[in-house]
Amino acid sequence: MKQKIAIPRGTRDILSEEIGLWQTLESKARKIFKTYNYQEIRTPAFEQTALFSRSLGQTSDIVQKQMLNLEKEGLSLRPEGTASVVRSYIENNLDQKEQLTKLYYIGEMFRGERPQKGRYRQFHQIGAEAIGPNSRSPYLDAEVITLSINILKEFGLKDFVLNINTLGSQKDKENFSKKLRVLLKPEMDNLCEDCQERFERNALRILDCKNKKCKTVIQQCKIDDAYLCEESRNYFAQLKKALSDLGIVYHVSPHLVRGLDYYTDTVFEITSESLGAQDALGAGGRYENLVSQLGGPDVDAIGFALGIERIILALGQSEVKNQESLDVYLIALNEASLAEAFGLLNALREKSIRSDINYRSGSMKSQMRAADKSKAKFVLILGEDEIKNKEIALKDMKTGEQQKVAQEKIIEVLRGKL
Ligand code: AMP
Repeated sequence: MKQKIAIPRGTRDILSEEIGLWQTLESKARKIFKTYNYQEIRTPAFEQTALFSRSLGQTSDIVQKQMLNLEKEGLSLRPEGTASVVRSYIENNLDQKEQLTKLYYIGEMFRGERPQKGRYRQFHQIGAEAIGPNSRSPYLDAEVITLSINILKEFGLKDFVLNINTLGSQKDKENFSKKLRVLLKPEMDNLCEDCQERFERNALRILDCKNKKCKTVIQQCKIDDAYLCEESRNYFAQLKKALSDLGIVYHVSPHLVRGLDYYTDTVFEITSESLGAQDALGAGGRYENLVSQLGGPDVDAIGFALGIERIILALGQSEVKNQESLDVYLIALNEASLAEAFGLLNALREKSIRSDINYRSGSMKSQMRAADKSKAKFVLILGEDEIKNKEIALKDMKTGEQQKVAQEKIIEVLRGKL
């Protein structure tokens, strides 16, 4: 026997038992995006590697360790959606079309991570970005956060926690970083190797580290918001008020910084304990400089991304029964009736009647078994007698009743019953 070829590590097939759930989640998300006036965008699955290294940050874990590159071409599979959306915003001059561009995407992302529960090398995100000269408003931040929360609620999730924080302006962020270095310097020996490197290059990343020892050090650090300027502090206060007014429950988490370079001001993360180590359902934040850094106009933006696989894990059910059963299953009892049945099958489909057939004419018993399995509402049976009399046997699978119908009338009769 030939050797089988396995699926690549960290990827999954989504089979038909599960696909109903994926389609339901996607269509629920689309409906909510519409309500909030976000339009769909589809960008390529790969981009120039420089797009990601310039936007996520050369020192980010994603760029350093997780990019899946097509090396010869200088291309990389997209590890996230924001950079591509911003690239497209700039390339298509979307700033000239409207003051505030609100976009959403649903698609696969790729990261060369060590696979584990909830962490894959190809996974899917539902995300949104609001970009434009008029986008710096705590109310827009509240809108984007509420939008992500409402999507999760619509999916039926309840036990999740919203953590928010502010990094302040670019300048505040630098102050934060400096302050953190002062706090962490005496603890250098207690940090993991990665964090010791991060200390010089990007100290804020240390707050993101999942290493237990680093987490303990960080928990003991007295981080306050003294690094924030008045304006940033007011902005965050307005956001918190807007969220409270909407009845959104949040926790302010001073350690939340997010692992990417582009964030400024508001950052947020939604976690669920039920997920275990990889507990983030989604995350997002504001990015003041990314559009201009990538050669676009000087406009602000905010966005988020939710992980579909994590959502499904948190829902605790991977299957939603496929409710769309067949209308008609055709049974041809011999080769001659198969040709006739094939013509009828296509006529039914042209009239949008969901129908199928078994192309190998076989015994009545085995064909009825297949019909049962298909969960069709009606079975049409064509054998020698039926062909001779230009009839067809119609069996109602619910009542078990069977009747003969003239072939030319069958579509009309079925339509009356469906
Ligand atoms: P991030 O851009 O890393 O904050 O990712 C946003 C969301 O995507 C996370 O909160 C997860 O729900 C999901 N996600 C990120 N990386 C993975 C992965 N490797 N496998 C599955 N889901 C992921």
